[in-house]
Amino acid sequence: MTAQNLPAWLPLSVAVWLIQMIAYHGIGLWFEWLDRTGRLSAYKTRPVDRVTYFDVLPRVLVNQVFILLPAMMAAQWLGLAYVGADHIGLVMFLVGLIGLTVGHDLVQYVSHAWILHRPALMRKLGHSVHHSTTASRAISACYMSAADFFLEIVCPYLLPLIVVSAIGSGGSDLLFHAFTVSAGAFGGLYEHSGYDFGTKLARSANPLARFVAARISSRAHAEHHSRGNVSYSDGFGSSNICDTVFKTRWDLVAPRERRRRSQETQA
Ligand SMILES: [Zn+2]
Ligand SMILES: [Zn+2]
Repeated sequence: MTAQNLPAWLPLSVAVWLIQMIAYHGIGLWFEWLDRTGRLSAYKTRPVDRVTYFDVLPRVLVNQVFILLPAMMAAQWLGLAYVGADHIGLVMFLVGLIGLTVGHDLVQYVSHAWILHRPALMRKLGHSVHHSTTASRAISACYMSAADFFLEIVCPYLLPLIVVSAIGSGGSDLLFHAFTVSAGAFGGLYEHSGYDFGTKLARSANPLARFVAARISSRAHAEHHSRGNVSYSDGFGSSNICDTVFKTRWDLVAPRERRRRSQETQA
């Protein structure tokens, strides 16, 4: 099915938003089911958040319906995204994926590390709302203030999408948009789920298994929630370029501080 098959009353941006909602809430419910049944408990690395699914759901829905949906519709209405070629080729598909991954990391790092975590703005912009959760209930991924949701979820998705659309990727290719929003939904939910599917592989003696474990680990964002000042990038599924460049990655911060302390004691 392509965008041309959509009924006239259904703009592509709205269809993509609906797919995103089905992915987000479908996967969110799956993680909730895991929490309630204890399935895959061997991979649950943190106790489940004390805020419940229904504590979190209303704010998540308000953000998705009243901020994300209008922003996506506006991008299409302005001709910035969800317009153009009905089908993009494989090369443009890959260009778009890379552009969205790298662009998401850049925009999200600026908004999350340099704006939302600024002490003077932490409460004013309401990032403290999201930090009242412990990244151990999947659906809490979008539990945040309106300003936080706009800066940390909407902008890192739409701004890179507008850029890749300008160079001929994205277009109105339904498969591309459906894939990217579903992958993004899974990444955010997994990071906030309290599950880490890399834990068993991480104990393996095989270096390849440990490499895969590090790629699929959800630890980075868990460290962000518990320590506050490390790993501002999304962790799982993210290029993590900015955390690496600015040395805020959780596994780089401790050695850096140790080095600084030892230099201070030597001085
Ligand atoms: Zn934060
Ligand atoms: Zn979080």
